[in-house]
This record gives sequence, C-alpha cells and structure tokens, in this order.
Amino acid sequence: MVDIAENSPPEISVAVPVFNEAQNLGPLAARLTAALEACARSFEIVFVDDGSSDATFETLRALNAVDPRIKAVSFSRNFGKEIAIAAGLDHARDAAVVLMDADLQHPPEVVPQFIAKWREGYKNVYGVRRDRSSDPPLRNLFANLFYGLFDRFGETSLPRGAGDFRLLDRQAIDALSRMRERARFSKGLFAWIGFKSVGVPFDVEERASGRSKFSYGKLIRFALDGLMSFSSAPLKIWAYVGMGVSAFALAMAAFYFWRTVIYGVDVPGYASLIVSIAFFGGMQLFSLGVLGEYIALIFAEVKGRPLYLVAERLGVEER
Ligand code: UDP
Ligand code: MG
Repeated sequence: MVDIAENSPPEISVAVPVFNEAQNLGPLAARLTAALEACARSFEIVFVDDGSSDATFETLRALNAVDPRIKAVSFSRNFGKEIAIAAGLDHARDAAVVLMDADLQHPPEVVPQFIAKWREGYKNVYGVRRDRSSDPPLRNLFANLFYGLFDRFGETSLPRGAGDFRLLDRQAIDALSRMRERARFSKGLFAWIGFKSVGVPFDVEERASGRSKFSYGKLIRFALDGLMSFSSAPLKIWAYVGMGVSAFALAMAAFYFWRTVIYGVDVPGYASLIVSIAFFGGMQLFSLGVLGEYIALIFAEVKGRPLYLVAERLGVEER
C-alpha cells in the first residue's frame, strides 16, 4: 500500500540560510528536531548553503544521510542572506515555513510558540527581540538611525525589533514568491504583504560559534538598499531642495541688483563665491549619486537575471 503521508508535503518547513556555519549545524539540527518533534505532525528542515567555503555542505550531507528530513540546497556561489531566504521560501512545499539563522541566535525552542500562534490563525508570526544588548553599541546606533529614517520615509512601517526569525503561512509564502526583486530587503517585504500578523518576544542568544558575516560596510549597503527599495523620498527630495535654492538665488539676485544700483559696483566677494561654488557642486554630485543608486537598482531588475543558481540539492526537488 502506498503511504500517502510519505508523498504529501510535511506540515512545517524550516528554512535556514547558511554561510560558513559548519560548526553550528549539528547543534542546531539537534535542538530544532527535538523542538519540532514535540509540536508538529511532520516537518522538514531545508538548509540553503549560500556558497560556503568551509565544511558546511559536507556536514549537511552527513546530517541528511542520518535524517532525511534534513535537506539542503547549495548555491553556485555566495548570493547573500536575503537571496538565500528567497530560495528557502521557493523550496518549501509546506503549509507553513519557519525562517531562522543558523548560528543559534534564534533559539529553536521558540518555534513551537510560533506554531501555536499559526494554529490560532495568524499568517505572519514574527519573533521580536526583547533587547538588542547582545549587539555591539555602534551597530545598535546604526540600527536606530536606520529605523528612524525608515519610519519617516519608508512606504511600509516596520515593527520594531522584528527580524527574519518568523513563521509564514502558505498564503504569505505565495505572496512573497511573486516578488522577484533582486535588491531584497526581506524585513520590508514581510511587512509589506500584511496578513494577520503577531509578534512573539524572544531573547537573542549569543552566536554559538564563528562571528557575524556582516561587516559595517555590508550593513550600510543593506540599509541603503532597504531604504531605497521602500522609499522614493531620496529621489523626490531634490525637487524641494532645488526649489529652495532657486528661491534663495532669486532673492540674492534682487538684493545685489538693489545694492549695485544704490552703492555702485563692488568687487570683493571671493570667499562667498568659492564657498557657494563648492557647496552647490557638492550638492549636485550628491543628488547625481542618489540618481545613480536608483538607476543601478533599475539596471539590476531590467537585466532579469535569476535570483540565484543552485549547484546541488539534497532531498529537495527542482523548483
Ligand atoms: N548568511 C548567509 N549568507 C551571507 C551571510 C550570512 O546565508 O552572505 C547567514 C548566516 O549563515 C546566518 C544568517 O545568515 O545563518 C545570519 O548571519 P549572521 O549571524 O552573520 O548575521 P547577524 O546575526 O550578525 O545579523
Ligand atoms: Mg547571527
């Protein structure tokens, strides 16, 4: 007799982006499997190996050999965490997907709480960090600045403290899979799709081993992409700046005309000239740079390249 359960998709899929995390995979798989066995009818864990150069894929192969519920997709190179998340969602066939980091900063023991909320009917269940003290102060400063700007200019509102650690219902996954943008800011996309959402507080743990894959340079790039893909304010602001500057220039012209008529020609003014040339030159270059950033985003979309390329699969079908 054919076992129907064997071929039907499992109830829960956990998608984990991994980049050089070989040391963390064993402990993560053990804790996650224990947590899921206690609360889900059936599950699979899909690791997305984002072009790791350490023993990550060999470790995944070994884990898959012992437990076929542990599956993997391996990218042809490093495409970045945001793209790895997209691949994780693409490869999940299940009723719900849990997204989490591989470094054990997202405690697997919280996943059953997500699942409980999902069973209550929530479609977008996100973990909310109780505090950010485990992050370096400079990173928190940048994060606050970013959220301030995003709140002011972003076209979607981001729940504070929410990140990628979350559960998404099939409906939410299908909505996300229709968004094939290259400059991906997942947090924004998760907020953009809406659906019945709820936050579940959790304590961020220390990274189990290794160090963060995000340098400040990468974080700034990520923040700019995030802001630009959810706001056109940086583009539009130049119209207002331009108007203000023109009004000021007109007023100045009127003032100098009047002064020349009353007091005659007066030559000195080298300092004010050089300062204004430098200031407006800088502002023009800056606004051109902003235009360039948006054009680069458009260029990336127009090329229409695939989001990622898969080199190898363990236990998952091609999608
Ligand atoms: N990650 C990834 N591709 C990358 C960088 C990171 O898949 O290019 C994964 C990484 O393996 C981890 C998660 O994304 O599972 C979060 O990365 P990390 O812990 O370095 O970030 P942080 O916690 O400092 O934000
Ligand atoms: Mg981490």
